[in-house]
Amino acid sequence: MTQKKYISQFTMMGTVITITLFTPNQPLVEALYDYLAKMDQTFSMNRPDSELMAINRQAGVQPVVVSPTCFDLVQRAVKASQVYSQSFNVLMGPVVKLWRIGFGGQTVPASTQIQRCLALTNPQDLVLDAQAHSVYLTKPGMQLDLGAIAKGYFADQLIERLQQAGVTQAIVNLGGNVKVLGVNPTTDTGLWAVGIQAPKAPRGTPVLQVVTPAKTVVTSGIFERYFRIGSKCYHHILDPQTGYPVANPIEQVSILTDQSEYAEILSTVSFFKGAVAGVRWLNQLPNVEAIFIDRQQHVHVTAGLQHLSEGVYCYE
Ligand code: ADP
Ligand code: MG
Repeated sequence: MTQKKYISQFTMMGTVITITLFTPNQPLVEALYDYLAKMDQTFSMNRPDSELMAINRQAGVQPVVVSPTCFDLVQRAVKASQVYSQSFNVLMGPVVKLWRIGFGGQTVPASTQIQRCLALTNPQDLVLDAQAHSVYLTKPGMQLDLGAIAKGYFADQLIERLQQAGVTQAIVNLGGNVKVLGVNPTTDTGLWAVGIQAPKAPRGTPVLQVVTPAKTVVTSGIFERYFRIGSKCYHHILDPQTGYPVANPIEQVSILTDQSEYAEILSTVSFFKGAVAGVRWLNQLPNVEAIFIDRQQHVHVTAGLQHLSEGVYCYE
């Protein structure tokens, strides 16, 4: 008998979320839905009543006491922003808002405006009080934007909750941020084939696939949110040094590793490094692999990925 799949799909957090199980468990799927709805209430940038918006609204005014979940994610996100200050920065909120890329923005802001916003993105200007569980953006106009990390955290949490419920095999997909649990019951090898949408692939070119044991696959790319002026593409990964979209020939980076939150950070950082320096850097990190695609549609991979056939890579 072929192995059945139980696929649940819903729209939340501005994206499509899919949970695949191999034995039916509707109550568990509903518990995961409720969990994500709660996270959306906590972290949404679009709900005035979210904890994140409360922090942003009180910028320059006072510290805001938040839930342990919110405090911990903000703390890790800020730490990553200090470690990778040249690329990953969750305080880019004012610059993201100024450009409005993917949210109706169609023009390049004045450089004076960009400079003004950039002055509000220093992670040192955010004060965390671990005792009080408070977050304080000390300058008016500062804004946290967890868009480059939150979905990774949610994917990790979903898998953890599935495991706690005794589930041994599952796939969660948060708008292309994929995490897999256990041994694939539908293949002889137990490995999973995770598809990676190749940007602008010519017709008939297969989408890339990685054949892998249970891992997470997270992609940062520039072809979902952008606008064009002439031949120039203005996309949504903004450089904390300049306030402009990162200017390099990379179209997308996919990271394979165990933790989705970490993969989110690495995908953004790797994007800035570019294919050659990015591959060299990632080859030194244990248990991390990556696939870069540049604007010529050339594919660059890290040392642990073996090229099996056209478009198919295998995690060793
Ligand atoms: P995706 O939204 O496709 O998952 P990313 O994970 O790379 O892509 O996150 C991009 C989002 O993160 C942007 O839409 C913006 O909200 C925010 N952002 C933009 N530039 C940066 C940056 N340099 N560091 C951290 N977050 C950023
Ligand atoms: Mg990311």
